[in-house]
Amino acid sequence: MKEKHIEKLKEIVGQKAVTTEVEDRITYSFDSTRLEYLPDAVVQAKNTQQISEILTFANEENIPVTPRGAATGLSGGCLAVKGGILLNTVHMNKILDINPIDLLIDVEAGVITEEVDKSVSSYGLFYPPDPGSLKSSTIGGNIAENAGGLRGLKYGVTEDYVNGMEVVLPTGEIIELGTRTVKGVTGYNLNSLMVGSEGTLGIVTKATLSLLPKPAARASLLALFDQLTHAAQTVADIVSEGVITSTLEIVDNVTINAIEDYLKIGLDRNIGAMLLIEVDGHQGAVDVEAEIVKKVAAKNKAISCKMATSAKERDALWAARRAALSSLARVKPSTILEDATVPRSKIVQLVEAVNDIAQKYDMPIGTFGHAGDGNLHPTLLTDLRIPEEEEKVEKVIQEIFEVTVKLGGTLSGEHGIGISKAKYLSLEISPEVFDLMKKVKRTFDPNNILNPGKMYFDD
Ligand SMILES: Cc1cc2nc3c(=O)[nH]c(=O)nc-3n(C[C@H](O)[C@H](O)[C@H](O)COP(=O)(O)OP(=O)(O)OC[C@H]3O[C@@H](n4cnc5c(N)ncnc54)[C@H](O)[C@@H]3O)c2cc1C
Repeated sequence: MKEKHIEKLKEIVGQKAVTTEVEDRITYSFDSTRLEYLPDAVVQAKNTQQISEILTFANEENIPVTPRGAATGLSGGCLAVKGGILLNTVHMNKILDINPIDLLIDVEAGVITEEVDKSVSSYGLFYPPDPGSLKSSTIGGNIAENAGGLRGLKYGVTEDYVNGMEVVLPTGEIIELGTRTVKGVTGYNLNSLMVGSEGTLGIVTKATLSLLPKPAARASLLALFDQLTHAAQTVADIVSEGVITSTLEIVDNVTINAIEDYLKIGLDRNIGAMLLIEVDGHQGAVDVEAEIVKKVAAKNKAISCKMATSAKERDALWAARRAALSSLARVKPSTILEDATVPRSKIVQLVEAVNDIAQKYDMPIGTFGHAGDGNLHPTLLTDLRIPEEEEKVEKVIQEIFEVTVKLGGTLSGEHGIGISKAKYLSLEISPEVFDLMKKVKRTFDPNNILNPGKMYFDD
């Protein structure tokens, strides 16, 4: 970028909100993948008007702009792969309005996910999407990736809670999408198109999110199994018994050991897998559903299936689950987390296939994830400083994705395509559909300045 471009950015957002110092740029060159790209300038945006002016100017001058939230993304989405401006939205973090009658909350895009939930708790309400990263991820990043979470099985994912939003288009116009109503079918559903578009079609500046009344009661259960496949079968059987649990998470032996090494909470290191299950609703329904879960677990040879007896015990279970990725990241120098998702009926086959692939390549893989949604995170544990490991990792990932798609699944349940999965897109998406996606991108962003280099849109 030229000096005159930096001066223009400073004119728009102020001197202190623009940096080109190399140390600062390095700080913003990472996300939660192992990838790294250096932007030319980092800009801290404070409001919609500034973002509009930046995009208008960047579009005229053909400068790439990459939006960034908390950088917890797991597909390289917020990395400035073509250099240019890294646009940070985390300072746009105001809760604007809470409406307990319409069950809506208005927030700026940089609000942290957990803050949304906390801010409505005193109204007896909750915001269901709860990604494992909820303490740091932003609503803008959640919308861009259509983030899921631990409660996805019963309550769905981010797209189910985004009523509307304010967006700045790559050409600088500020638009409003969606409605404040329960229903609304006026025109194409561009609100939904924006959700999951990975910051390639527009920058979300504000969002209107819908809320639900908090369930009256909940119960958490921990089921232990000798074998991972028995745990996986239990997942499918619980749902076919007619119980939609709010959470149904699986953690394998490799991950259990990593969590125990990290948190030292007394997990049994020898078990094959554990399921963390939560049922919620009215007390009567919770009691009935918890009993069904216990019976199904017993039928699938569970070593035990116990209910947490206190809030402290329950919180410890969920803290352990949320620590899965950070625990695995301590095992080896390189951690590569995947996001394979299959129909629930195929979860046992996916688990078996991942185990076979791990053995075939002698690659330790820790598997955990939202099993109730058919969404597993096989996590490769390796050391990419060893030259031959890179090639091995590529083969392992390719095979995991091939089997996932063969089982009727999808490359990404919640982490998006970004850069890390772009080269596998053709396994799932036909050339006709991909061509249509490219045309959509061009319509929104004729000069390809917004988040270029993602999803292979610019090839
Ligand atoms: C420990 C851990 C656990 C995780 N658990 C889950 C999980 O359970 N479920 C899940 O779905 N994900 C999970 N993730 C992944 C990640 O947290 C989500 O993808 C999250 O939505 C990213 O939010 P962010 O604010 O960090 O976005 P970033 O990483 O900063 O950006 C992600 C993408 O969003 C775009 N973007 C950011 N802000 C905006 C905006 N305002 N407008 C337009 N585009 C924007 C970026 O350009 C990029 O493409 C986890 C990550 C970690 C590290």
